[in-house]
Amino acid sequence: MAVTQSRRTFLQLAAAGTAAVALPVGVQQVVNPPGAAAAEVPGVDRVVASVCEMCTVRCPILVRVRDGKVVRIEGNPKEKSTQGAICARGNSGISLLEDRDRVRTPLIRVGERGEGRFREATWDEALAFAGGLLTISPTPAMTVIDIDGPGKTLIFAASSEHADMVVIKLKEAYKARLGEVDPDAIVKITGVASSCNREQEGSGWVVSPERVVTNAHVVAGTTSGHVRIQGVGRTYGARVVIFDPRRDLAVLAVPGLPARSSTQGPDLKRAGGAVVAGFPLNGPYRLDAARVRDVLTATGSDIYGSPGAVREVYSLFARVQPGNSGGPLLSPSGAVVGIVFARSIDDDKTGYALTLDEARPVLDAADSSSSPVSTGDCVAG
Ligand code: SF4
Repeated sequence: MAVTQSRRTFLQLAAAGTAAVALPVGVQQVVNPPGAAAAEVPGVDRVVASVCEMCTVRCPILVRVRDGKVVRIEGNPKEKSTQGAICARGNSGISLLEDRDRVRTPLIRVGERGEGRFREATWDEALAFAGGLLTISPTPAMTVIDIDGPGKTLIFAASSEHADMVVIKLKEAYKARLGEVDPDAIVKITGVASSCNREQEGSGWVVSPERVVTNAHVVAGTTSGHVRIQGVGRTYGARVVIFDPRRDLAVLAVPGLPARSSTQGPDLKRAGGAVVAGFPLNGPYRLDAARVRDVLTATGSDIYGSPGAVREVYSLFARVQPGNSGGPLLSPSGAVVGIVFARSIDDDKTGYALTLDEARPVLDAADSSSSPVSTGDCVAG
């Protein structure tokens, strides 16, 4: 598995490394240890034995301090394995402490990747932000984190107390997010489009008692439909009671569905974290990290290719796959903020979701709609 670090992750770890040079709690320090006289560097008033945490090797170091400032870092000659050597990265620990251009706070990107536009954030905000983007797979030996969107994976395999602290905080933020997602409100939808001799599947979410929202193209042309909570267990029969091919939305009445309605949240802003929930590739229930690239008024086609459909949508940095259609876009706190409906044909890391404002007329009519409606023709593909 490729190991990549986002700039933010690097900054967090770099900050952990800085803390190490600054002698955090738990690092034993010995002032002016034998063989490391302060006078060896002019003006140095003390030498502190510590451990470099610029990487997980943790080489023993001697830190020379003048007027309370670190002026030099070198290897501890008492250590047999390194024989007093450290690498250039270890030496650069001073820059993390003293360089006037050093990064002093977490930064959250506000522009496109590579554009170089960031805003300052507090650690609490940065960790909560990152926590909203995570999928975490803890194993006894390591913690694997997908951070900053799909495909960026960071593995914490060592037991650095600072790295562990970051992971614990990120996990807390992640759990807080999951705690507000009611997985029972997210359903898998299957149907048969007899005219096209085809089975269709997608995702949906419970908008009100016994009412499920999905995309119109998921149920287009179907004569029968079923839903399963979280994609497993009992199958519930469903009938389409709203079919809106322009918005690409449909509402299903599902008698006896025992799931609570989803919480709906406020609009997300540009660069805001989000989660795509659903059943990609007809597989099991999944949550995938996403981020809002932009909120757009997009002119396109309805589900049958007729032009002139104008919709308010989120453009997302997200991996949306067949089967995600109709599933909810969730805020970092787990509230529904949009409905996933498309992916870019040019870029597999870009997806699209309808905003709740766009969906509002359909959502508001869901409760009072109970009569079956035509589902039109099935869509191409
Ligand atoms: S000196 Fe180099 S190898 Fe040793 S811990 Fe520091 S960064 Fe790692």
